[in-house]
Amino acid sequence: MARTGVREIVLLTLGWEELEKSVSVEGAPPGERMREPVPGILLLCDGGWLLLDTGFNTALIHDPALRRRFYGDPSHRAILPGPGEPLDEALAHAGIDLAEVHAVGLSHLHLDHAGGLRHFTGRPVHAQRRELEFGLTPEAERHAIFRIDFDDPRHDWRLADGDAEIAPGVTAVLTPGHTPGHQSFVVDLDDSVGGGGYVFAFDAADLTENITEEVSIGGRVNASPEECVEQIRRLKSIAARRGYPLIPGHDPHVWPELTAQTAERFGRTPAR
Ligand SMILES: [Zn+2]
Repeated sequence: MARTGVREIVLLTLGWEELEKSVSVEGAPPGERMREPVPGILLLCDGGWLLLDTGFNTALIHDPALRRRFYGDPSHRAILPGPGEPLDEALAHAGIDLAEVHAVGLSHLHLDHAGGLRHFTGRPVHAQRRELEFGLTPEAERHAIFRIDFDDPRHDWRLADGDAEIAPGVTAVLTPGHTPGHQSFVVDLDDSVGGGGYVFAFDAADLTENITEEVSIGGRVNASPEECVEQIRRLKSIAARRGYPLIPGHDPHVWPELTAQTAERFGRTPAR
């Protein structure tokens, strides 16, 4: 019997961030700035929609006191796509209700990935055990991992210790370095929609040049550039074996292009 795969992919842009390129590319010249999209991915699986990553926590951006504490880094600027909740707006645009998202997968707990988790209390949340354990240490906040984003007893954590299939056709691949329990995702599409698939690196590789040049990401927690390049090579070999493209997590050219391509493939109005 054929394996069941993912039947639709919808790419979301949940905001942007302006930052030093050296955060994404080790050794980039100081003062070189980038504007990078904040990614989210909806996957239609057996059992309903699975959301990979959730964007910023808008409450920490709108409130001046919270903003000073959590978004006070002058070298990083968070940009929201509109006045409301980015997830609400992106899902409304895709014609999907928040209640139809049955589970969430988190690549890691950074402010631009776990900030929208508060919308999904009571639903399964897939992450690596070591990422959550690190996130709960006092050290985490100075690495832009905010306990307020995810430390809620109502969350139904499904914690993995390494690679794990989290839904039919969706495999989490442990790629530590950017954070201690960062994970990337391999998505296998169902034969009924033409098969194939994608490897989504998320922040194991922010930009295309991290992949093509095999140059480390600049933002790392307790990891060397060499260890991060090892993760990029591992993802490249998984992608090559399956014949899938490897998609960087924050590339300002790749993300909108792939958003348009997947929208066309699955017959949806492209996102903004
Ligand atoms: Zn990150």
